[in-house]
Amino acid sequence: MEIYDVVIIGGGPAGVSAAIYAKRKLLRTALITKEIGGQVLLTSNIENYPGFVERSGMKLAEYFEQQLKEVEVEIFEDTVREVRIEGKMFKAICEEGREFYCKSVIATGGGSHKKLNVPGEEEFFGRGVYVCATCDAPLTKNKIVAVVGGGNAAFQSADLLARYAAKVYLIHRRGEFRADGILVNRVKGHANVEMITNAVIREIRGKDRVESVLLENLESRQLFDLPVQKVFIEIGKEVKVDYLKGLVQTNEYGQVIVDRLQRTSREGIFAAGEITDLPYGQAIISAGQGAVAALAAFDYISEKKY
Ligand SMILES: Cc1cc2nc3c(=O)[nH]c(=O)nc-3n(C[C@H](O)[C@H](O)[C@H](O)COP(=O)(O)OP(=O)(O)OC[C@H]3O[C@@H](n4cnc5c(N)ncnc54)[C@H](O)[C@@H]3O)c2cc1C
Repeated sequence: MEIYDVVIIGGGPAGVSAAIYAKRKLLRTALITKEIGGQVLLTSNIENYPGFVERSGMKLAEYFEQQLKEVEVEIFEDTVREVRIEGKMFKAICEEGREFYCKSVIATGGGSHKKLNVPGEEEFFGRGVYVCATCDAPLTKNKIVAVVGGGNAAFQSADLLARYAAKVYLIHRRGEFRADGILVNRVKGHANVEMITNAVIREIRGKDRVESVLLENLESRQLFDLPVQKVFIEIGKEVKVDYLKGLVQTNEYGQVIVDRLQRTSREGIFAAGEITDLPYGQAIISAGQGAVAALAAFDYISEKKY
């Protein structure tokens, strides 16, 4: 039976970084992932990853893959369905039936942004429709912007975008907001922010670029066209950690709770990146957490003296 020191689940920035660090500690490492790059592959313009000036997310993912090959990480294109405890070991079971025995697991399955599922959303994604204000706020300089959502993410985005954009509409389907009162008050303090409540976007419209959103007022059922140039969808993220079910503690959003060494509540299982309860979702942060997880896994294996 082959036994890996560490099985890394996910090939986004967190998983790639964890794999590089694990190999440099001479750990026998398997990286199981659907693809290399994760959400970076959806990023047309990445301007805040230190040292990377080429901007294209596809290019960064290519470099990830190149570096993984250089350090000879064993990469398996598959999806982990379940992680089980087998005596002192873990067993990762994949959808294609493969099984991997290992001394430690680093889960880096990432997340995905919830969608509105309206016409125009896919068509203009990355060129007028965005999901990350921290990433794309500079594109809104002097523009008219719509932010969709009523939670903390939407209000944090509106707060940031109000500093760049000429006008920000915050569109929410309810009359009240889930966001913290202090954030709501801060956003209300921006003279260029207008709240549109009890309304939903039915369509994102435009010819070559976003020109407006079609809104429906949920009380009057009236439809009206609101001219905007950028739309930020901030209605939450989904984290899928079914394969760790019952093994690790998660928070109310389903994110894996970790300590500062990326340790989960289960000894030997580490987690890094957007799968965790850290509130910031950025490539560099995931990569940093991945590195910490690999070093902590190395210490764990060394101390356990397998
Ligand atoms: C449109 C867009 C623009 C962005 N722009 C920027 C930007 O400009 N700057 C920036 O820093 N960040 C940006 N981000 C955010 C950044 O991409 C993420 O924060 C980062 O990719 C998260 O890395 P991660 O490794 O934690 O997870 P992910 O990138 O989500 O990677 C997770 C990986 O795990 C795999 N996986 C999931 N479940 C399983 C399983 N069960 N078995 C095997 N594999 C699995 C996935 O297929 C994926 O490869 C952007 C995100 C989006 C969507």
